[in-house]
Amino acid sequence: MRPLSAAQLLALWDAGQTRHPIDRALLALALAMPEQAPDELADRPVGWREVNLLALRNATFGHALDGYAACPSCGALMEFSLDGKVLLDGLPAPAPDVRIVVGTQQWRLPSSRDQAAILDAPDPDTAVEWLVDRCRIAENSPGNDLTVNRKKSQKSKSSPALLGELEARMEALDPAADIRLAMNCTDCGHVWDAVLDIGACFWEEVTTRARQLLESVHRLASAYGWREADILALSPARRAAYLSMIG
Ligand SMILES: [Zn+2]
Repeated sequence: MRPLSAAQLLALWDAGQTRHPIDRALLALALAMPEQAPDELADRPVGWREVNLLALRNATFGHALDGYAACPSCGALMEFSLDGKVLLDGLPAPAPDVRIVVGTQQWRLPSSRDQAAILDAPDPDTAVEWLVDRCRIAENSPGNDLTVNRKKSQKSKSSPALLGELEARMEALDPAADIRLAMNCTDCGHVWDAVLDIGACFWEEVTTRARQLLESVHRLASAYGWREADILALSPARRAAYLSMIG
């Protein structure tokens, strides 16, 4: 994975301001993988998105991945420090077209599009129900037809046991969709599994880097009258050298 250029990073920061985190992640991948159609990116399994976002993050910002999680018991912020490369190496991307078979029915893995579609679910149980409905592959459809008739499938309610089994099997087949960190609160001793939100970490880093780039553009444009595009096209070393000259 190639790192985002300064111009791409600023474009991502600009366009991502008003987007939902799922869209931000897809926007970043669309910049990094121009050969992939945006629609195809949205249809890939959630874990595929997370693995590639982590790869892009590592390429752009380096392997050190620092963050923090709030202790669910006492609220204290606990910092964590990870090696993004080690994390990436341990995360399998789901195989394409993987299927879960229960009896005569089949399901595919949830995609970014599915994740976005269940955002307005009234509660977590309904969200799982909607997700399972969306991912069910319509019976009698030839081959791997991914189209699902939502209205039709809503009528055939899945039992809580089946929903639970499908949820567990989806998680097992796509572990990168839900990355957990074993955390230990040094204040109260509470032990828990924190969700590692790659997209949130990446967006925070993008925001910090974008502010630095804008500051550089402001100073160099003020001093030399250069255009933003020309300043962003400079290598980081040249930008830093000119910035040091204007003091
Ligand atoms: Zn605590």
